[in-house]
Amino acid sequence: MTDEKDPILDTLDQVKASLEFLAESGVAGFDCSQQALDRIERWSEWSESTQLSESLEDIQIDLGDCQRCGLSKTRTHIVFGEGNPNARLVFVGEGPGYDEDMQGRPFVGAAGQLLTKIIQAMGLEREDVYICNIIKCRPPKNRNPLPEEIETCFPFLERQIAAIQPEVICALGKFAAQTLLNTQAPISRLRGRFHDYKGVPVMPTFHPAYLLRNPEGKRATWEDIKQVMERLGLKR
Ligand code: URA
Repeated sequence: MTDEKDPILDTLDQVKASLEFLAESGVAGFDCSQQALDRIERWSEWSESTQLSESLEDIQIDLGDCQRCGLSKTRTHIVFGEGNPNARLVFVGEGPGYDEDMQGRPFVGAAGQLLTKIIQAMGLEREDVYICNIIKCRPPKNRNPLPEEIETCFPFLERQIAAIQPEVICALGKFAAQTLLNTQAPISRLRGRFHDYKGVPVMPTFHPAYLLRNPEGKRATWEDIKQVMERLGLKR
């Protein structure tokens, strides 16, 4: 640990000292009142607390018209994520497909309809939860996300999760589970039990698109979802 001072706090100290000096020297034209000095003193607390509690809107503004990776060249819309900003449950998928890219909304195609049914079977609506993806732009022809695309995009999802502070995350499919849990283990080994992402329980389960192709996986998915419901105290 170094005891180097935060540069922002250092600057604020210097501003405060300069204003005090001006006030003592009787310089007019600056607001050197005690009130103004007290307000400056509080800036530092304010900047620390706002950094700790940025909102989803702040994150979306920072994301802007993102050009941080090559997917920006082929996407139609960024799919930021949607739902309850105070959701107790966050669903994380892989990345936008054709329909999501067209509409700028997550899980609105065929896989999305199945996810909506799963959410409703839990006794919830889409508006109750938060739905998002590991990457926010559609890869061309729905190819798998590249490691560098995930690396560029994932920090924004991490900030979204920090803003929402959910009680449970449900990771839909291999890419969501492997990225959140920083592992290469297959989804078949990860699903069925809770893991940890920065103190938040994560339940990996099969991706709804996989379930459309392999309906025999629905039973196992429902077992996973029942564990999520139990953790959230939701009645069946
Ligand atoms: N598949 C995903 O992983 N996410 C979506 O938003 C849609 C389909």
